[in-house]
Amino acid sequence: MQHIAFFGLGNMGAGMAANLLKQGFEVRVYDLVESQVDELAALGAYPAATPDEAVKDADVIISMLPAGRHVSGLYFGDASDHTSGISSAAKPGSVFIDCSTIEAETARTLNTRLVDLGFAFADAPVSGGVGGAKAGTLTFIVGGEAKTVETIRPVLEAMGKNIFHAGDAGAGQVAKICNNMLLAVLMAGTSEALKLAMDNGIDASVMSEIMKKSSGNNWTLQTYNPCPGVMEGVPSSNDYQGGFMVDLMNKDLNLAMATAATHQSVVPMGSLAKSLYQLHGLNGHGKKDFSSIFTAFQPKN
Ligand code: NAD
Repeated sequence: MQHIAFFGLGNMGAGMAANLLKQGFEVRVYDLVESQVDELAALGAYPAATPDEAVKDADVIISMLPAGRHVSGLYFGDASDHTSGISSAAKPGSVFIDCSTIEAETARTLNTRLVDLGFAFADAPVSGGVGGAKAGTLTFIVGGEAKTVETIRPVLEAMGKNIFHAGDAGAGQVAKICNNMLLAVLMAGTSEALKLAMDNGIDASVMSEIMKKSSGNNWTLQTYNPCPGVMEGVPSSNDYQGGFMVDLMNKDLNLAMATAATHQSVVPMGSLAKSLYQLHGLNGHGKKDFSSIFTAFQPKN
């Protein structure tokens, strides 16, 4: 049986680690927040006291952390506190999988450094949100060598439904932020179209049905309508609570803009969506679901 070390038991990581346990993997967990470790220990995970202890016998090491600097610090240590990171304690030949959403460039650097030390690496960011993490239905968008992707496939399949190999190291991150940039554009555009219809006397539910059967059809209309009252069980019908936070969409849009800058890609729609989302966050909506961008088109009475 493969031994797994799992770092980062937050909104996403807790559900992912729980699904690995359900599939019979032995999982050692570590998080900076003790109560999150306790929750996984109650489900059968081994609570590691230190990061090094977590990786000691691990064949596969998974990280699900907020941003690139956290992943680099975990793997290679932090100059400020003179730690050396888990790469100095991991078993020779083990595979590192980073599922966090981080800069593609950082993922490529991590890959080079780990491969130099005799490890394998894959960037495997996810789509599907907290619900998908809990249900084990995430989509993994993987960058790395083909043989590494095949090695880790059973592990990813324990946490997700769709596994895509996007290309070499870093390609998973690039593909993930391309998707999320399009999602931001679609959500803003759908909100704008619905509001235009409403301003001109058309009911939002009627307009949504028309667009779903016409050329404006898209994922936000099908499963995530941003207008309150049109669809049940989505954040817009729950005061935009839960779901995918505006702050996280802003993080992904910033990553998309940085990636666009590396090859001078032209991204006017993405950059406009980024400005809209940035303003929306600055207006105090950072913790709300990203479909709340709909309210930016709705003047306050
Ligand atoms: P989160 O803040 O809920 O969880 C992150 C966890 O990492 C926290 O528990 C934190 O204590 C822990 N952590 C930080 N540094 C650590 C370290 N050095 N060692 C161990 N643990 C450490 O974040 P999240 O919502 O779970 O998101 C995680 C990643 O997944 C992010 O990169 C995010 O962009 C991405 N993502 C999130 C969603 C979503 O809907 N929340 C969807 C897709 C992708």
